[in-house]
Amino acid sequence: MARYTEASCRLCRREGEKLFLKGERCYTNKCAISRRAYAPGQHGQNKKKLSEYGLQLREKQKARRFYGVLESQFRKYFEMALKTKGVTGENLLKILESRLDNVVYRLGLAMSRPEARQLVRHSHFTVNGKKVNIPSYLLKVGDVIAVTDKSKSSPKFKAMLDATNGRLVPKWLEFDAENLTGKVVAQPSREDIDLPISEHLIVELYSK
Ligand code: SF4
Repeated sequence: MARYTEASCRLCRREGEKLFLKGERCYTNKCAISRRAYAPGQHGQNKKKLSEYGLQLREKQKARRFYGVLESQFRKYFEMALKTKGVTGENLLKILESRLDNVVYRLGLAMSRPEARQLVRHSHFTVNGKKVNIPSYLLKVGDVIAVTDKSKSSPKFKAMLDATNGRLVPKWLEFDAENLTGKVVAQPSREDIDLPISEHLIVELYSK
């Protein structure tokens, strides 16, 4: 399956924002954005004013990169959002939030979304009692996510919980740290999604 292979920090520098793709490092002064807050490449320091199209494109790329989604899949999510009742931009973000890898990250079971994606791929989780190793699996209200029995005894998850302890679990999810399980108790609302994304720009871009 296709995936990003570009250096993560380059993506943040391109978007001019922390995308939190590297876990612990993102919270230290080793973060590339703290040290070189300009776009990568030879002309990275030459700031030029973006056109309307440029702004829309950057917003879409930023959203894709936050969630680690490739263009074709992102486009499919947009089509799904368009067919869903409600505000298209918000629907799009809600779909992205419902991905299994994102939920694993939101529950504090991974340091970053890329790490959550890898853990899902390596079959560390079940959904409603069945093993699921598809990071893009879309969760619904009522679904229960659990670390598999075999992985529960791994010191990795204990260390992970210690490291992510301070992170707030959004109110549309419930987390049981003792049993390493989580539940989707509601659909995420726009206020629950704390990412600096102007989704209307993405809708404008795809509506051209
Ligand atoms: Fe982005 Fe994290 Fe790299 Fe900082 S350390 S540039 S937030 S991936």
